[in-house]
Amino acid sequence: MEDLPSSDIRSLATASGRRKRQGRLCAVCHFEFSKAEKDEMTWCKADRFFVCDHCWEKHCDRGHGNWLKNKGYSMRTAGYAVLFICALMVPVGATAVYDYALPVQWNMLPVTTINGLSDGAVVKVHGVLNASDSADGVALGGRERPARNGWFWEWNETARFSIRDATGDIEVVAADYFIIKDPANPAPNALHTGHPAYFDGEEATIVGKVVDGPGGQILQMRAITPGEESIDNDPVFIISGAILLTISTVIIYKWASIVISRKRDHEAKAGYLPSANIPLDRDRKEEGLEWSGHGMTDGRKSNIVLGASEIGMMILVGVLVFGPLLFKPHAQLDFILIPIVIGFLFDSCLIGFLVMIQRPFGPEMAVSDKGIHFWYSEPACRLLRRNVVVWPEIKSIDLGSGKAKYWALMMKNGEQINVNSCGEPAGSLIRAKWEQIKESRKTGTV
Ligand SMILES: [Zn+2]
Ligand SMILES: [Zn+2]
Repeated sequence: MEDLPSSDIRSLATASGRRKRQGRLCAVCHFEFSKAEKDEMTWCKADRFFVCDHCWEKHCDRGHGNWLKNKGYSMRTAGYAVLFICALMVPVGATAVYDYALPVQWNMLPVTTINGLSDGAVVKVHGVLNASDSADGVALGGRERPARNGWFWEWNETARFSIRDATGDIEVVAADYFIIKDPANPAPNALHTGHPAYFDGEEATIVGKVVDGPGGQILQMRAITPGEESIDNDPVFIISGAILLTISTVIIYKWASIVISRKRDHEAKAGYLPSANIPLDRDRKEEGLEWSGHGMTDGRKSNIVLGASEIGMMILVGVLVFGPLLFKPHAQLDFILIPIVIGFLFDSCLIGFLVMIQRPFGPEMAVSDKGIHFWYSEPACRLLRRNVVVWPEIKSIDLGSGKAKYWALMMKNGEQINVNSCGEPAGSLIRAKWEQIKESRKTGTV
């Protein structure tokens, strides 16, 4: 096939008709952007469709005179923000609700007689504790630990004792305990705290799971209360859990409805249009300029980075969802702390991640009397990002501090263009040119 001028490529692509698209068409020029590129398209609020930066400039005049007010925020950025907020709120909220629901469920369990326990069942038994082997008569005790402001009590996870009712007895292990309600009598070793313990011969109610052990059945205790008392429960858990889950639901719903309505409105205008592939020779690199910067922008590498970032995201979400299950918390509050800590770790990883994937996508830059030029080796990038920023458009340049690692062009229309990867000589040329422009603006010659 002979080389076709780019205008013919469009008509050639008409033959592809209306197929299921992975990417998205620009509503004006009809060039098709891939799945990885489409989130960089601009949402025009006035036209209610997605366009490439080229058409945002030519067709939409960068906001139809209303500038930033007509530019919809990027769904990718919004998606990360939703993930960032919900990564903390959803697991913490769900855990708080679970924390409340579990004791409620345990309190509703009927008491089972010990001779009728079946393996694997979660049961509630009531009887007399037996710790006749223990020298001090303690069935379930603990020890005092020094803390910064006094002492705190730590229950003994390795405690073993048994519980007996009229029908039989069963051995109890405390390793998986979740809630221990304080009994009446102080432990013999609680010298500083006066903390109570459960003694041989006391009545108690235990909720736990029945498992088959080497010497018969064992009850893995989850909760214990003195006598026939119910397990304490704090309504703060359900209230705060409900609030967090409601807010997250509203945020996710709002985000999803914006995604869906944008997609619907865009498809209504551009869905039936024939697509065209982006010609490789579009927007050639302007000659006669001194280009600098070492942006990695070729498609294969950016796909690798995006692929790696997707895998990284999946691992992070996995840790967020399954992380709390790996721990066996010993108190309701501990159980809340786990998702909080994991949520914070997740969010810090997310930030690190975004910084990491942003870094390689820098443009090559050059400076002329006209303005600052950007060039990307990837043709799609050249359509999706600014190719030139003319001097009169710039309000100020944020040169950051120190070695000026952080650069941002503050535009008159309110936009901000980050040019972090700006290398030399473009960096010093921009600085020199900008000083000249500031001077001439002061004297009113421009
Ligand atoms: Zn376009
Ligand atoms: Zn528009």
